[in-house]
Amino acid sequence: MEENKKLVTILVPAYNEEEVLHMLYERLETLMDDNRAYDFEVLLVNDGSKDKTLQIMQELREKDKRINYLNLSRNFGKETAMIAGLDYCKGDAVIIIDADLQDPPELIPELLKYWEEGYDDVYAKRKSRQGESFLKKFTSKMYYKVLQAFTKIEIQKDTGDFRLLDRRCVEALKAMRESQRYTKGLFSWIGYNKKEVLYDRDPRAAGKTKWNYGKLINLSIDGITSFTTSPLRWAAGIGILVSFVAFIYMIVIIVKTIVSGVDVPGYASTMVVILFLGGIQLIFLGVIGEYLGRAFNEGKHRPLYFIERYNEEKETNANLNKSKFDN
Ligand code: UDP
Ligand code: MG
Repeated sequence: MEENKKLVTILVPAYNEEEVLHMLYERLETLMDDNRAYDFEVLLVNDGSKDKTLQIMQELREKDKRINYLNLSRNFGKETAMIAGLDYCKGDAVIIIDADLQDPPELIPELLKYWEEGYDDVYAKRKSRQGESFLKKFTSKMYYKVLQAFTKIEIQKDTGDFRLLDRRCVEALKAMRESQRYTKGLFSWIGYNKKEVLYDRDPRAAGKTKWNYGKLINLSIDGITSFTTSPLRWAAGIGILVSFVAFIYMIVIIVKTIVSGVDVPGYASTMVVILFLGGIQLIFLGVIGEYLGRAFNEGKHRPLYFIERYNEEKETNANLNKSKFDN
C-alpha cells in the first residue's frame, strides 16, 4: 500500500506565454516524474492572455490530469494572478514559479528539502541575473534601498516570487485581501521560518517580458504605500522644518524693515520662496493623494479578480455576494 504522500502545488501565473508553456511542461514533467515522494499539482493561471495560452493549458490538462488551470476573466496583473492561484491551490505546500523558465524548476527539490526540515517559506535568491539590462539591475538595487529606508519590515533583496510556501503561509496570504497587492512585501510581512536558497536566474526561455518601466514604477509606489505611512510623517517633518525656517526669515525681514525702512527690491527672493513652498506643497499633496487613493480603492472592497473557469468548470458567480470568509 502506498503511504500518504504530501501534495505540492506548482503555481504558474501566465500572461501571453504560448511560446514557453510546452517547454515549461516538459521541465515540470521531468521534475514530477523524478520526485515520486510527492504528489504534484500544477496550477496554471491564465491571466487574460490574448494569445493561445489558454488553449495550450487545456491541451496540457487533457494529456496530464495533474494539471489544473484557472482562467481569469481578464488581465489582472501578476500580483492578482498569484492570489487567485493561492485561493485555488490544494497543496500542502505551494511553489510559485514564472512561466518563462527564468526560475529553474530543477531547484524545486532543494526547496522541498528545506520544507521537510521545517521551514515555511523557502525563497530563491538570485546569485546572478542573466539577460537583464544594466539599467534594470541598477534601478532595482536603488529601489530596494529606498524601500528599506522607508519600511520597517525586511524586504528580501534580489528575491522574486519564486519560492515554496507552507500551507500556513498560503492561508496567511489568503487572509490579506488588499487589492493593490505588493506580494513581495506580504511574504516578509507574514513572517514564519524563512530560508534562503541561492540560484542563477536564467534569461527568459522565449517570448517577451511583460514588464515595462511604467508597471515597475507603479509596483514600486505600491510597495512603499502598502507597507508604511512614513512618507506622511516625512511630509509633516519637512513641513515643520520649512515653517521654522520661514518663521526665522520672517523675523529677519520684520527687524530689517523696522531698522532700515521699507526695502522694495526683493523680487528674486520672493519668487524663490513662493516657488519653493509651492513645490513642496504640491509634492506632499501628491503623497497624501497617493494614500487617499489607496484608501479609496481598498474601501470599495471589490473582489480581487473574477474567474472565467476552473478547468472544464465554468464559473457562474452565483456565490459571489457571499464572502468566502463569512462562513
Ligand atoms: N505575468 C502575469 N500577468 C501579467 C504579467 C506577467 O501573470 O500581467 C506573469 C508572466 O506570464 C510570467 C511572470 O508573471 O510568468 C513574470 O513576468 P515576466 O517574465 O514578464 O517578468 P520579468 O521576469 O521580466 O520580471
Ligand atoms: Mg520573466
